Amino acid sequence: MTVEPVKDYFEVAVSAPVNRALTYLPPDNCEKLLRQGIRVLVPLGGRKITGYILDKVDSAPVGQQIKKIYEVLDSEPLFPAEQVSFYRWIANYYHYPIGEIIRAALPAGLTKKSGRRIIITETGRKQLLELSDKAITGASWFSDLLKKGEIGPHTAGSLWRMKERRLLELWQEKGWLTISGEIVGGTAKAKTETCCALTENIAYPENLKVSEQKTIAALQKIASATDSRFVPRREVTREYPGAGKALKSLARRNIVIFREQQVYRDPFGESFLQSDIPETLTAEQKRALDSILPALQKARFASFLLHGVTGSGKTEVYLQAAAHGLEQGRSVLVLVPEIALATQLEAHFMARFGSRVALLHSGLSSGQRFDQWCRIAQGMADVVIGARSAVFAPLKNPGLIIVDEEHDSSYKQDEGFRYNARDLAVLRASRSAAVVILGSATPSVVSYYHAKEGKYNLLYMGKRIEERPLPDVEVVDMQSIKTVSGSPPVFSPVLIKYLRENLQRGEQSLIFLNRRGYANFMLCRDCGQTAQCRHCQVSLTLHRSENKLLCHYCGYTVSSKSVCASCQSMSLTAIGVGTERLEHELQELLPGARIARLDRDTCRKRTDYIRILRAVHKGEIDILLGTQMITKGHHFPNVTLVGIVLADTGLGLPDFRAGERTFQLISQVTGRAGRGERPGRVIIQTFQPGHYSIEMARSHNYSGMYAREIEMRKTLSYPPFSRLANIKVEGKDKAYVQEAAISLANMAQKFRKGQEPEILGPAPAPLMRLRDYYRWQILIKGKKLETLHAFLHRLEGEIAPLGKAGKVRITIDVDPEYMM
Ligand code: ADP
Ligand code: ZN
Ligand code: ZN
Repeated sequence: MTVEPVKDYFEVAVSAPVNRALTYLPPDNCEKLLRQGIRVLVPLGGRKITGYILDKVDSAPVGQQIKKIYEVLDSEPLFPAEQVSFYRWIANYYHYPIGEIIRAALPAGLTKKSGRRIIITETGRKQLLELSDKAITGASWFSDLLKKGEIGPHTAGSLWRMKERRLLELWQEKGWLTISGEIVGGTAKAKTETCCALTENIAYPENLKVSEQKTIAALQKIASATDSRFVPRREVTREYPGAGKALKSLARRNIVIFREQQVYRDPFGESFLQSDIPETLTAEQKRALDSILPALQKARFASFLLHGVTGSGKTEVYLQAAAHGLEQGRSVLVLVPEIALATQLEAHFMARFGSRVALLHSGLSSGQRFDQWCRIAQGMADVVIGARSAVFAPLKNPGLIIVDEEHDSSYKQDEGFRYNARDLAVLRASRSAAVVILGSATPSVVSYYHAKEGKYNLLYMGKRIEERPLPDVEVVDMQSIKTVSGSPPVFSPVLIKYLRENLQRGEQSLIFLNRRGYANFMLCRDCGQTAQCRHCQVSLTLHRSENKLLCHYCGYTVSSKSVCASCQSMSLTAIGVGTERLEHELQELLPGARIARLDRDTCRKRTDYIRILRAVHKGEIDILLGTQMITKGHHFPNVTLVGIVLADTGLGLPDFRAGERTFQLISQVTGRAGRGERPGRVIIQTFQPGHYSIEMARSHNYSGMYAREIEMRKTLSYPPFSRLANIKVEGKDKAYVQEAAISLANMAQKFRKGQEPEILGPAPAPLMRLRDYYRWQILIKGKKLETLHAFLHRLEGEIAPLGKAGKVRITIDVDPEYMM
């Protein structure tokens, strides 16, 4: 009887829609290279596909032919081993393929491989110059090594797969070489710069030219000032203009050596703020920190919900907690809503922690993003600020995770791999024995409920800094305003009056409307139809400056001069207002006022955004108007008036969170007023003045809103009293989609145990057609998390065959945010 030798297998998460990790054998002689977090190329169904090593296992599934990994793509892991179990948990919870999750987590530019950089040492140079083995000294890599002082990742990678590897490792042991890991991107490449240094232990020849002497002096000066031996060539030639040529001749004589060094592209641009540590904390800030700091000290999981009204100084609490976390030798992760980047928070962190800060968000070029990822992975940055996807940042040993504006719905990724970064932040903290702080002036109802139930520690800061009052709020009922034409005006007389007064006093105003474009939609006066998107079941919005009608969902445009699609009439009228029209009307009402607009049309790039914000800070703008972009986290001390043009835009949506969101939005906008020395005033224009969301926002009554919401959710059994999953069935064939949705719902009914979970639908989605896809949904509501997920796992098995024909796409949205 023969005994099978014990084999090592590897569990690989492939980046393909496969529900579980697969098992592979290591490639010949490369087993040592395989570690958790390394990418590999593996065979799958006749293709080569990227995968990520999750673990080493000692057995394989029986009855299957186990294939070999083709190639190892990295020498350094792309994420720390401790993150593997985090990804496993996520895959299980969101019912999404683990390999696809990891691919989504890694920065987009990072598609190629990581490699090595081999650098010669001083002793190495002396020793290797004396080498006489022709087989080695004749090789081009060897002469490159001597000439440039290093071998880059490309050549190093190929040497590593050949017999030279032994030799190089031997030389490394002798101290002749240093070998460092480096990640090399596909599209995103590390940016390098030629740097130079004086060689050591070499007596300078006597007959140096003057230019050479000056060059050496310049080099030494910069080196000692910057405390680094290798200095950029650029800087030497700047210091001494004749240096270029002299450096070359010095290199020929082995007095100077060159090498390419990675430089980091500065993603921050200019920041426009100072951050001084305040002399004294407010009593409330102190109380909050007195709870948080001891928790950090213990290095155990603890969670806080910091409910602090707008202007209460939450940022300072974050900053001091972060400083404390760093002192404990732990890293710090700060999540902010995408839109809020480039605001005060980021500037404060950079001012306090300088080059330890890395920034991750979609405004970065893929090169910048890649650089930032490397700095984090290599431990060069231990404070990370980023939007949603930064929750996956490869930080080692995070001790503090902060989620600012935790109620913000941009934490939810609503396409592809649907996750909620706030929830994952709490999870990551609990798995890293870290402290998590969720901060907001208007916490989400669900988080607040958890805090009340004791799952989070609730910290409250109810006063503004320096006891500044919250602004006075007036609600204007637009229904009651009569005009000659019969249709209500855009601006109420009272808002116009205050805008004028503010202008005269030289104070700034903010005008908010949650709708971009010129008009809401185009109505045909002859047949009563509105202009619709050809691909979606939505109206087109007029963008007048560009003369087009635009679909805000899919980007489809037609000329604004179009005729009615149903009756060919030419009399299309623009109905409703958007920010573009507000700007026009304001210019007519208040000629001479300096007006700026902040929305997705005026701010395509982050630099536009910063330019406008800076102008407001400098007092170059009298009135800033815009969409949600003006609501997030800004601190404009001179803003004393805020006008909300149409407060009820979101109230009519078929979504159980509509009331909560409206309250949050109004409160956030309201909170921009009166943050400086002068008190603020807010005007809310609405057609539903009696709605509790508006009433509670007017009176700054968070707990009033919470009480109403929690009551409603309890009655209807919505979160936090249940867990939801939305199963979406989408496809181009209308009838097929409907049939698939019905048969899936029937299946779901069969899997149900008694009353659990509740199944609502199937029903057409509120936006029944989007980007040419017909959409149906089935809402699953479970009282218990475990039974809901067990149910979903069973149902998953049925979903795959339904989707097989390629005619429908079925996705599970766990904890959905939007029901549209
Ligand atoms: P929030 O995020 O709670 O809305 P901020 O953190 O933006 O409020 O703080 C509002 C302002 O108060 C900022 O300009 C901040 O620098 C300042 N500030 C914070 N703490 C203090 C303090 N203890 N003393 C004086 N000013 C403070
Ligand atoms: Zn018509
Ligand atoms: Zn569309």
